[in-house]
Amino acid sequence: MVFMTVLIVGAGIGGLTLALSCRHMGIDYQVFEASREIRPVGAGIWLPPNAMQILHRLGLASAIRQRGILYQGIELRDFSGNRLKQISTERTIQKFGFGTYGIHRADLHRILWESLDSHRVHPGRRFRALRTEGPHVVAEFVDGSTARGDLLIGADGIRSTVRRLVLGKVSLRYSGQTCWRTVVPFNDPSLSVKRMYEIWGPESGLRAGLGYIDPQNVYVYFTHNQKPGHRISDSQLPSFLLERFHKFPSFLHRLIRQADPESFIQTDLFDIPPLERWHDGRIALLGDAAHATTPNLGQGAAQAMESAYVLAHCLRHQPHFSRALQLYEHLRKPRATLVNKLSWHYNQLLNSISPLHRGLIFNFVRLTPAFLDHLMLDRIYSLAYLEELKTVKDTG
Ligand SMILES: Cc1cc2nc3c(=O)[nH]c(=O)nc-3n(C[C@H](O)[C@H](O)[C@H](O)COP(=O)(O)OP(=O)(O)OC[C@H]3O[C@@H](n4cnc5c(N)ncnc54)[C@H](O)[C@@H]3O)c2cc1C
Repeated sequence: MVFMTVLIVGAGIGGLTLALSCRHMGIDYQVFEASREIRPVGAGIWLPPNAMQILHRLGLASAIRQRGILYQGIELRDFSGNRLKQISTERTIQKFGFGTYGIHRADLHRILWESLDSHRVHPGRRFRALRTEGPHVVAEFVDGSTARGDLLIGADGIRSTVRRLVLGKVSLRYSGQTCWRTVVPFNDPSLSVKRMYEIWGPESGLRAGLGYIDPQNVYVYFTHNQKPGHRISDSQLPSFLLERFHKFPSFLHRLIRQADPESFIQTDLFDIPPLERWHDGRIALLGDAAHATTPNLGQGAAQAMESAYVLAHCLRHQPHFSRALQLYEHLRKPRATLVNKLSWHYNQLLNSISPLHRGLIFNFVRLTPAFLDHLMLDRIYSLAYLEELKTVKDTG
């Protein structure tokens, strides 16, 4: 048992996984969430093999298996329906023990949340300030309440208040794209339930992706280049999407028509360029607060889970908290930075699909040898770096 209390600000995927990891390692924790209810924001989510390996270590992989869909592969198509690439997950499953799962975010949150001690999770507590008092950190909340602990972890998302207090203002970087996503009850014989699809459009930024998250429901997203902050009303969204995506396969048009317009969630896609540091004194950052990435590789939540597990492990096995936080940053930053950069460049590539470049980019993707795809995926999915955790055990 480690005699320390960790205050966690934010009950998103990062904060909840950190709480679970602390529980797993025998570390006391308290979670404070601004929303009155602990609820997911978003529609479906793809959990890649690195996320599944973390969930497995926390004893939750079988719950995901029961609720979600294990994909056999991902298929990239052009808007005319031609297959650009197909990557099977068989090799990944053999190598890492897990493939990618699709699941409803509400189910993922429920699985994380229900594994925690509910009296340690406090909804309706919006963090606003902090101060240190000797060996303690005191968190202050908007409702006037306070909490005292040994460490405070900001898992409060891309617009993190904790980060602002520790690092000052950090500028977000806009990808140029907005994204609409939803879940639709859908059946189409041309789509496999066990496949993820991404379809690239004729113009810069125009993309659609989909995958079943249970045998009846499809998680679908659409991306489009536009200025941030521009909103399209629910009533106009179906006709807007039908018009923008009219060259795409007809099953997407049926999906748009079948979807409840009010169920779409629009998110302008930002990241934060890699930060110089993630901690200061008794405060550290985790998840999107520390390493928000664009969602092109489907890695944001997976990286948050890795950070959560590694941080709890470092706290458990390093006798001094400052060494633990240094080690956490040392282990996690290179990977999070790699994902951030790869995802950003992928985004830039797709944003440059002008009619002039389209053929070139599509051919490049079609002709890239499979071993190069696997090389990149292995690097992202491999948790071999966790081996380093063993060597730091009980050093001081
Ligand atoms: C379109 C899209 C698709 C994506 N798809 C995938 C995918 O398929 N796979 C994947 O791995 N990742 C995906 N991601 C990324 C993933 O959603 C995020 O990286 C992940 O949810 C980040 O989790 P987090 O806990 O760090 O932050 P958040 O989910 O933002 O959670 C932060 C929490 O902190 C709370 N909070 C904020 N401020 C305060 C405060 N002052 N006091 C108390 N609480 C506060 C918030 O209410 C929230 O609950 C996607 C992202 C987008 C935008």
